[in-house]
Amino acid sequence: MNVLDTLRLEGSLQSRGLRAAGRAEDADVALLNTCSVREKAAQKVLSRLGELKRAREEGGKPEVVGLCGCVAQQDGATLLARSPVLNFVLGPGRIGQLSAALDEVADGRRVSITGFPETEDYDSHLIARGTGARQYVTAIHGCNQHCTFCVVPYTRGHEKSRRMEEIVGEVRDLAAQGTKEVTLLGQTINAYRCPTTRADLGDLLGAVSAVEGLWCTQFITSHPAFFTDALIAKLARARRLGTYLHVPFQSGSSAVLKWMHRGYTREQYLELVAKLRDALPGVTLSTDVIVGFPGETEEDFSATLDLVSQVKFGQLYGFIYSPRPRTPAARYGEHVAREVASNRLARLFAAQSVIQLALNQALMAHRVEVLIDGPAKRGSGWWQGRGPDNRVVNVPAWKGINQGQLAPVTITGATPHALLGERVGDQGSAA
Ligand code: SF4
Repeated sequence: MNVLDTLRLEGSLQSRGLRAAGRAEDADVALLNTCSVREKAAQKVLSRLGELKRAREEGGKPEVVGLCGCVAQQDGATLLARSPVLNFVLGPGRIGQLSAALDEVADGRRVSITGFPETEDYDSHLIARGTGARQYVTAIHGCNQHCTFCVVPYTRGHEKSRRMEEIVGEVRDLAAQGTKEVTLLGQTINAYRCPTTRADLGDLLGAVSAVEGLWCTQFITSHPAFFTDALIAKLARARRLGTYLHVPFQSGSSAVLKWMHRGYTREQYLELVAKLRDALPGVTLSTDVIVGFPGETEEDFSATLDLVSQVKFGQLYGFIYSPRPRTPAARYGEHVAREVASNRLARLFAAQSVIQLALNQALMAHRVEVLIDGPAKRGSGWWQGRGPDNRVVNVPAWKGINQGQLAPVTITGATPHALLGERVGDQGSAA
C-alpha cells in the first residue's frame, strides 16, 4: 500500500513539472512517506528529519520537506510544531491534496492536512507507475477491524471500497500498456463491496481476470473471518487467478487470538485452510505471525509453532509485537521480555525455513511459467522472476531476456527462500 502511495505522490510531483533528484539532500522538494505499523519505522522518520535539517542548514536544500504516510496522520501536527525543517504534513487519506499543500507552502504557510474525507477523487491517472509488468491497484482503503495491536484503523481510517467499474477501468488501462500481473490491494481485501453494485471480491476478481492481456491477478491482504463459502466458490471459478494467497493468522492460540480481537479461533482458521485447499488445489498459503503479544505464554507459542507445522505455509512474515500508540494492546500488562520474544521469533523462522525448503524441493523438475522482474541479487548473469505462486525463481540470463517477459522454466534447484530454474529449451546455455 505504501509503495503505491509513493508512486501516487511521485506522479503528483511530476504533474507539477518536478523530476526525481538523486538524493533528498539535493532536492527542491523532499517527501518522507512513512509507516507506523512498528515502532522502529516511526523512529527512523525522526532521525531522517534530523539529517534533512542538517542538510538544509549546510547547503540550503531540500527547500521544502513534507511528511506523508501513517506517521503524518498519527503524529503530524506534533511533529510540525516540534520540527522546524518540516514545511507540511499530509496524511495517507489526503494524498490527492499534495499539490494544494505545496501551493500553501509556496505562499509561506506551514500546513497539516490529515483525516479522511468522505469523498476523494482518486487520481489513478497520476500514479507514476513506470513500465513494470506487475502493478498494484487499490480496491479498498482503510480497515474497520480494530485488532488490538494494530494502528492501521487510526492511520488509514475506516474501510472504503472503490467502485468496481473504476477498478476494472484502471486494470484495463494498465493491461493495454503492457501490465501482465495486477495485485488488488486492501487491508481487508476480502471484505470488498462495490459501493454502487454491492459486488464482492469474487465478482471483482471475475471481472478483472477477464481483462484481455493480463496473465495473472493476485490480491492481498485477506482476513480469515471474511472468507464465506460463496466467496471461496467464486475464487475457484475465477480465471487466471494467482495461486498465492496471503491469509495472516497472527497466533496459533485461541486465547491470544481473542486478546488480539481477531474474530476467529485456531480451529476456525484451520477449517478455513482446509476449505481453501479443497477449492483451490495447488494454492500456496502465506501468512503473518506476531510473537510476544502481551500475555503470550510458552504454551501459546507452542500452539503457533504447531499450526505452522500443520499448515505448511509457502511464505511466513514473522514480527515481534510492538506496542503502538492508541491501541488497546499497548495498555495490556503481562509484557513478554524482549529476549523471550526474540528467541520465539528465531524458533519460528527456523521451523518455517525447514518447511519452506521441503516445499521448494518438492518443486524440483517441475515446469512453471515465470514473469521476469529483472537482474537478480544473486550476481551477474542471473535474473529473477516469479511464478503465479509468488515464489522467487532465479534463472541464468539468456540472450534477449527482458523485464516483463513470460518464460517457461524448469526448476533445477531449491533453497528455503528461492528456486533456481532454467528456461525450457535453454539447458546449459548462458548469456
Ligand atoms: S485487519 Fe489488519 S489492518 Fe485491520 S486492524 Fe486487523 S491487523 Fe490491522
